[in-house]
Formats: sequence, C-alpha cells, structure tokens
Amino acid sequence: MDYPDRFDVIVIGGGHAGTEAALASARMGCQTLLLTHNIETLGQMSCNPAIGGIGKSHLVKEIDALGGAMATATDLGGIQFRVLNARKGPAVRATRAQADRIRYKAAIRGILENQDNLTFFQQAAGDLIVDGDTVRGVVTETGIRFHAETVVLCTGTFLGGVIHIGLDQSRGGRAGDPPSNRLAERLRALPFRVDRLKTGTPPRLDARSLDFSALEEQPGDNPTPVMSFLGNREQHPRQVSCHIAHTNERTHEIILANLDRSPMYSGVIEGVGPRYCPSIEDKVHRFADKASHQVFIEPEGLDTHEIYPNGISTSLPFDIQLKVVRSIRGLENAHITRPGYAIEYDFFDPRDLMHSLETKFIHNLFFAGQINGTTGYEEAGAQGLLAGLNAARRAMDLEAWAPRRDEAYLGVLVDDLITLGTKEPYRMFTSRAEYRLLLREDNADLRLTETGRELGLVDDDRWAAFSEKREAIERENARLKACWVQPGTAAAQAVAEKIGKPLAREYSLMDLLKRPELGYADLAGLPGIEGEAVADDTVAEQVQIQAKYQGYIGRQQDEIDKLKRHEATPLPVDLDYAGVEGLSNEIRQKLAEVRPETLAQASRISGVTPAAVSILLIYLKKRR
Ligand code: FAD
Repeated sequence: MDYPDRFDVIVIGGGHAGTEAALASARMGCQTLLLTHNIETLGQMSCNPAIGGIGKSHLVKEIDALGGAMATATDLGGIQFRVLNARKGPAVRATRAQADRIRYKAAIRGILENQDNLTFFQQAAGDLIVDGDTVRGVVTETGIRFHAETVVLCTGTFLGGVIHIGLDQSRGGRAGDPPSNRLAERLRALPFRVDRLKTGTPPRLDARSLDFSALEEQPGDNPTPVMSFLGNREQHPRQVSCHIAHTNERTHEIILANLDRSPMYSGVIEGVGPRYCPSIEDKVHRFADKASHQVFIEPEGLDTHEIYPNGISTSLPFDIQLKVVRSIRGLENAHITRPGYAIEYDFFDPRDLMHSLETKFIHNLFFAGQINGTTGYEEAGAQGLLAGLNAARRAMDLEAWAPRRDEAYLGVLVDDLITLGTKEPYRMFTSRAEYRLLLREDNADLRLTETGRELGLVDDDRWAAFSEKREAIERENARLKACWVQPGTAAAQAVAEKIGKPLAREYSLMDLLKRPELGYADLAGLPGIEGEAVADDTVAEQVQIQAKYQGYIGRQQDEIDKLKRHEATPLPVDLDYAGVEGLSNEIRQKLAEVRPETLAQASRISGVTPAAVSILLIYLKKRR
C-alpha cells in the first residue's frame, strides 16, 4: 500500500547516525519519518558503552554545538567521566564517559519522543523507490510504500551482516538483530562501489564472578567533567569506577595455539578490521614482543552486573574465549554472559558521496554512519547530523551546507572520507586535523553554534545560553585588556609572589594571563583591580585558553603555509619509509604502499598527518 501521508525526509535506521539525522531534519521544521527495525533499539550502543575519547569527544561537542542529542544523552547516562590528556594542551584534551547502556538509550528515546515534526515507524526497509536517477521514497519489507522528498540511509553494520564466532557463521546485523539482506541486494544493484569491512566485540562478563581485589581501580575525575554545553553535573547518575586487568603470557599462548580456529586467520573473514580497535588475537599476533596488554574492566550500567572487558574483542570460538578470559588475573572464575563475535558487513565507498553526504549517482539520497566506512558512535552521529540537515535543506530547495576542515572535525571527517575513501574502518583522531589548535573540544560552540542557529538547528534555549556565554567572554576579554597592574601596588606584590620576581613595569591583566606561570584563577582575586572576575568556569576557561593560545595559533598557521609552499617537492619512488624516523608504523605502511610522487600527494593519503609531512620534509632536506 501507499502510505497516505507524504514526508519531507525519511531516515532509515535508528542507530547513532539515524537518530541525529532525524532530529536535525525535524529541528529544521521538516516532516520526518524515522523508519527502523525496532523502536526499542533506538540509540542502542552495539559495542562498548562509552562516548567520547581522543578526537571523538570533539565530534560529540560539535554535534552538541549544532543542537544534537549525543552529548545530552551522555550527561544523562554517563556513570564515569574523565578528561584524557588532561596534562597536555587543550587541543588534544578529550572528555570520555562510560555510559550506562540502558540510561543512554532511554535518554536518546526521550529526546526523540519530544521532538516536534518527527515520527517513527517500526519495520525493515527492503527497497528504495527510485525514479530515473532520483530517490522518491522507501518500501518496507511488508510492502508499505512511504514517499518523501529525500531519504537518508543509516543502516550501520546491518547490510549483508554476517556474524562469526570461531568458524561458526550466522546472518545478523549485530547480536540479536536481523541483517538487512534485501536492502543490501537492492543497493548492490545501484551504481555504488560496495566492499566488506569487519568489526568485533569482546565477550561480556558477570561482575559477581570477578575478583576486583586483584584489579587496579580507575575512578572518574573529580570534579566530574560535563559533556554538553548545556549540561551540568547534577544531571549525572551515580558515578562508579572502572578497573584495569592485564593479559599475560599464558593468555597469549592460548590465543596463538588456537589461531587456526579464528575466522580471521583461517581466511573465512574477508573484510578489513579496525586498526585502532584490533581483536586480541590480532594484537597478540602483530605485537608478538609484548608480554601483556591492558584490559579495561568497564561496567555496562548501574542496574546490571554485566561488564565490558575493553581490549579483548575476539572472534575465537567460545571454549577458547572462556580460557582466554580465565587466564587473566582477577578473572580466573569469570562467567561469560555473552560471547564475543566479529561481524562483516557491506559498506559503500564514500568517494561516491558529495560533501553534503548526498550520493553522486542517486539524487536526494544521503548516506551516513558506518555504511560510509567509519567506525564509532561519534563518527556516525556527526555524519547523521550533517546528512539530516542537508536532506532537510534539499527538501526545502536550499543549498547544501558542510563545514570546512578549519571549522570543524566534522569537516575533516567528511573531507577525508569523500576525497580519500577508506580501506579500513575510519575513526577520528586529533592528528587527522591540521588546524587542531583551532578545533578544540572546548570551543566547539564558539565555532559552530551561530551557524547552527542560522541553519535552524539550534533552539531558543541553546541560543540564549550560548549568546550569554559569548558576551561574557567578550566582556571579560575587554576587562582584562583594560585593567592594569602598576608596580608597587598590592596587586603587583601578589603577582610577584606567584612568578617569583617583581614586576618591572605596568602590565595589563591580559598580558599577565599570557604568562605560563599565571592562570585565570591567580588573577581573579588581585586586590585593587576594577571589575569582578567571572564566576562561570566555562567562561573563565575560554578566556584563559584564548589568551594563552594566541601565539601558538599564529605559529600553526605559519607551519601550514610553509607546508603549502613545499607541496610540489618530489618524493623519490624508492624512498625507504622504514628508515624515516618519527613516522608511525601505520603511516610508513601507507606511504610504502602508495609511493606518492610529491609531498602534496603524500599529505592527501588517509591517515598521513601534517606532522608526518613535516617529518618527510625535514628528512628530504637532510638527505640532500
Ligand atoms: P548502527 O548503530 O548499527 O545502527 C543501525 C540502525 O539501522 C539499527 O537501529 C538497525 O536496526 C537499523 N537498520 C538497519 N537496517 C535497516 C533496515 N533495512 N530498515 C530499518 N532499519 C534498519 N565502534 C567502535 O568505535 N569501536 C569498536 O570497537 C566497535 N566494535 C563494534 C563491534 C560490533 C560487533 C558492532 C556491531 C559494532 C561495533 N562498533 C564499534 C561500531 C559502532 O557500533 C558503530 O560505529 C555505530 O553503532 C554506527 O552507528 P550507525 O548509526 O551507523 O549504525
């Protein structure tokens, strides 16, 4: 049957990409249908219950800055929050939250349920309605035809999904869910380049069977970091610790003795797996000289005993999984609640997409998430938001929008994908961004919320909070520039004590804030200074980072300009990349495979960072 109502945008798949896509489109005022296998699994985390981390939290905060749901759901569901790289510069600092799987999903569901212009339908999409080279709607597996201006496809690991546990195989989109085979076949008949990737997950454990006294405790940070720009600590549920365990030589012996029963090593799996989330069999095989690997013992939630042992993702058979787990100190009596497995699935070459994430071959059809060759909730959510907003803009006859590489990690992600493609699951890192001093997680709102407002993604509450914060930063910057500390005053005396020498001349507070020995808090309480310091931590943080970073940003720009000047520098075809010190093994391997002819070509290879190009430049100069 033809469904009687027509939609502006249909989103297929209610995972991390699909939910952000549907929310973005609906926020912009478009009548949006989210068509998904199962309404109960909206926002489900297929693998580890954690959001954020290096490079990924930048995407989460950008989604948040553009009005998306992921950061808010993390604040509502997060049971352990930490800032990674806290001692390093703000550009590489990253917030990571362990999430309660059930609470996170409930938070996403709550946000979806309360979004105007958005409705759900539970059923599998089996076909697309394509008229010439334009998509017109979707047909469900039971034959209901939904019509729309645009369609966003966010089907994750489900297209042609095959699950492997040892040499046993079954068809599935992830454990407990059916695959999307009919849709996969239909898409394979369209002119897209399709290939296979794989990813894996560890067995889950019952916390009651673990000996926590043998494990190292890892508490969250205090004060607890917050993920959303609109969030606060009071929203967080009870906070808990994670723990750390270690594999040992016995663990590695068991794995190596059974590699022939691993689908990856016996050649059953064809798809390439994620380099940065390798299976334990991969780690033991590839890094044979390492006697031990860390295993993070992460709770799955507050109302369950299930544990996610992060670091031992595996597709070995169940009997070997049990032996591997029980060989680890503290896990000797562990009970496995769910076996680990690997999954292979279809993905589309993202070079067949435009910056808007619309496909090049079928108009009004957009792809987002894991089907574009990425891995991770954050990468999926960010693409979903972009595809949803562009699907809505197309439905409204407006030009597409995409951020540039110097505006957002989302810009880096999409540009990398569509210009370079990917041969392995792509995950975000700060090293992928050449403008990472500008693209910090702390300033995602300052970079994007105004644009988000213009695009119709940002509601009045967020806009009011953001405007207030931005004005407070401007006011405080102006005050710091206008307030002077004169030698011989009580304020100068207080500053001298902090920096260990007297002030030789007058300084503005802004000049003083640029000094490495002084922080905003040191200057806040100086006696006899006009005006009050700001009480809002996020404003104070921003003022401090901006002051301290000004010089570095200028230098980064110079570096980028210098690299641009050397883009035509030739690279010898016989260059021995293994002998170039400072390059990571991944980059060496890629350069040796591609053998780029110039530095410019090298810089465009996925994963070859601006820092690596700089190393190559220095190496070439030394060789001459
Ligand atoms: P998904 O979250 O997979 O959501 C897809 C949604 O589409 C589901 O709701 C599904 O029901 C729906 N759907 C599919 N087909 C149809 C259809 N025909 N009709 C209607 N609805 C449909 N990421 C990491 O970062 N690190 C890891 O180590 C890691 N390991 C993983 C291990 C496993 C076993 C799996 C399954 C995933 C793993 N991931 C990992 C990936 C992470 O889960 C994904 O990156 C993320 O969930 C992708 O989000 P998505 O929205 O693209 O797809």
